[in-house]
Amino acid sequence: MNSDNLLIWVEISRSALQKNFQILREIVGAKVQLAPMVKSNAYGHGLEICAKIFREVEADYLAVNSIFEAQKIRDLGDSGKIYIAGYTSISELEKAVELDAEFVVFNFETLEAIEKLNLPAKIHLKVETGTNRQGIQKSEISKFLAKISELKKIQLVGVAMHFADIEDTTNHDFAKKQLVEFQKIKTEIEAAGFQNLKFHAANSAATLLWDSTHFEICRTGIANCGMWPSEETFLSLAEDKKEKIVLMPALTWKTKIAQIKKIAAGESVGYGRSFVAEKDSTIAILPVGYYDGFARNYAEKGEVLVAGKRAKILGRICMNILMVDVSKIPNLKIEDEVVLLGKSGDDEITAEEIADWGGTINYEVTTRIRENILRKVVD
Ligand SMILES: *Cc1c(COP(=O)(O)O)cnc(C)c1O
Repeated sequence: MNSDNLLIWVEISRSALQKNFQILREIVGAKVQLAPMVKSNAYGHGLEICAKIFREVEADYLAVNSIFEAQKIRDLGDSGKIYIAGYTSISELEKAVELDAEFVVFNFETLEAIEKLNLPAKIHLKVETGTNRQGIQKSEISKFLAKISELKKIQLVGVAMHFADIEDTTNHDFAKKQLVEFQKIKTEIEAAGFQNLKFHAANSAATLLWDSTHFEICRTGIANCGMWPSEETFLSLAEDKKEKIVLMPALTWKTKIAQIKKIAAGESVGYGRSFVAEKDSTIAILPVGYYDGFARNYAEKGEVLVAGKRAKILGRICMNILMVDVSKIPNLKIEDEVVLLGKSGDDEITAEEIADWGGTINYEVTTRIRENILRKVVD
């Protein structure tokens, strides 16, 4: 498929993804394994594309949320390590083992199911340290480990936790408490005779901020894509790291102009007639809407880039169409390229800016880009 014939497409910079990975590699050093998170279509960047790109730079693991994503990676012919970080249902345990995917376990029911099925599963135990999401309670860890010891076929590969409040704040008291808790759990598990386990806790923010969170594996997602987990994470970064860590956004989202027309002062644009032109204007019609992941609530503050210049969104965003003001951008013709997210000329619309329009976070902006829009590697 040639994206030049398409109306909407996403361009992915391989060099940006790989540079970001190398920055993380430098931060964690050679001994810590890196598990780029390619869940949710690699944060909208394209699961298959990113899986290949990160393996080219020797990603130790590819981390996903679910078994269907693990399957997609295996379908590429990839035989490297895969870690499933989300819940694997009991009916799919057999398949996870078949795919040779390591997966996280945090309840006894799953363990019993593995036992009954008599599967040689490679599992990671998720422990609760205060996020109150996935994770087995501290009081149940020893019982869980005792059970695992009896099940000779099961291989306990690692122990994981996840931070609750590391990217949303510059106050890291809670994250530090969770880290101390995890370190205690690690000590106890090792004292109980479990050796050579891989402990892992760090997402992007933790990986960037503190070496003490790295343990054996770092599960970095957003940073691989060249985005900061948050402004707060950047602000919290040690001074000596600020210059070294230059993350490069890897995704550009584009469309084309479908129509250009002049409207007179007093005319309205779009559904609900929420925008009324104050003066004679030129508008462009773009074949992209909220179905594609360009959310309806981006409309009020939203802009796009046409020939390196900003064009304001007019009125409401429709399901498949939106309208922009191109009155001040001369010499346009239909099928000229429009940048929804990324650079055009000297200007750039970042995922963070779009997130701000929509009252959300950069993570949601890129993961929302409709999955079956073509992703194309451009360098
Ligand atoms: C998504 C996720 C990550 C990656 O988080 P980033 O902030 O994108 O680096 C790490 N660990 C778990 C358990 C996750 O769900």
